[in-house]
Amino acid sequence: MPKKIAIIGNSAAAVGAAESIRERDKSAEIFMVCEESFPAYERPKMLGILDGRLKERQLVWRSPDFYKNHGITLLLEAKVEGVSTHRKRLALKGRDPLEFDELVIASGRKETLPPLKGIQKEGVVAVNSLADVKFIQENLPIAHTVLIVGRGPVALELVRIIAAKKTEVKFFGTLAEPIENVQEVRDNPIIEILGEADVRAVRLANHKVVGATLVIFSGASGPNTDFLKDTDIHVDDGVVVDETMRTNIPFVWAAGDVCRQGQDPQARGWEAAYASGRKCGESLCRI
Ligand SMILES: Cc1cc2nc3c(=O)[nH]c(=O)nc-3n(C[C@H](O)[C@H](O)[C@H](O)COP(=O)(O)OP(=O)(O)OC[C@H]3O[C@@H](n4cnc5c(N)ncnc54)[C@H](O)[C@@H]3O)c2cc1C
Repeated sequence: MPKKIAIIGNSAAAVGAAESIRERDKSAEIFMVCEESFPAYERPKMLGILDGRLKERQLVWRSPDFYKNHGITLLLEAKVEGVSTHRKRLALKGRDPLEFDELVIASGRKETLPPLKGIQKEGVVAVNSLADVKFIQENLPIAHTVLIVGRGPVALELVRIIAAKKTEVKFFGTLAEPIENVQEVRDNPIIEILGEADVRAVRLANHKVVGATLVIFSGASGPNTDFLKDTDIHVDDGVVVDETMRTNIPFVWAAGDVCRQGQDPQARGWEAAYASGRKCGESLCRI
């Protein structure tokens, strides 16, 4: 009987694992399960569609032919809601469960939104995926003021790109040097998001109200492991794996930004995720 391998994710680590498995095992049934709507795309380049440097089609990293040619079943818009290591199956939102013999977790990290009153309103976005970037792209032309809260290179790139469009930006973070159209807001954080269904304004700690229709958060991320909370898979600020990318459960593996090896947070980033996916596939096929 061919082995049935389920991979959670469809990005750098997941693709690395799938390719590496297929090179070593021609008969395994490989399923890639992804909550997003697109075949694999180059996540690090996705802000390029905001300033027109790139078209969406230029982000494609693995085309639909890739999956066909490698005999991989890609399930898109398939969110994993739970894992049963006892029954060896994934619970998928609105779909039948998916059974597996071996499981690879390659679900990455996700930006977290702070627990503010009103945070669920339309127009508040954390930059995780191409869908989030497309949402920003569609809403920028009607946004008079954009609020960006965050730190790190992605937050700064967003500030730079949006300000260059002559849109007023209020940045709740630190700039190395002034940027035209950007006002830095320090020591006065957002305490509430205001509006009906859509964001219309925010309230600051000093109780001043600032109008805005787009509020972007970037720079506070955690491992994407919500679906593992009722399992016996060891998670400690990431899925804990050994040097072969195996978890504490012999038939469960993990790769990429979601995992952590021993006490050292694994080196993160696109190339490292792809390499760890390949290593994971190699180890899985060795057993
Ligand atoms: C805007 C931006 C810019 C970046 N720029 C750079 C850069 O310049 N250089 C660099 O090295 N890195 C960069 N990174 C980081 C880089 O993208 C990540 O390190 C890399 O994508 C990690 O790969 P991964 O496969 O581990 O996880 P991810 O790429 O995060 O992929 C996770 C996959 O899991 C899926 N998934 C998650 N949860 C579920 C679920 N419950 N059910 C089903 N599917 C699920 C997702 O849909 C996705 O397919 C950037 C990231 C962002 C957001």
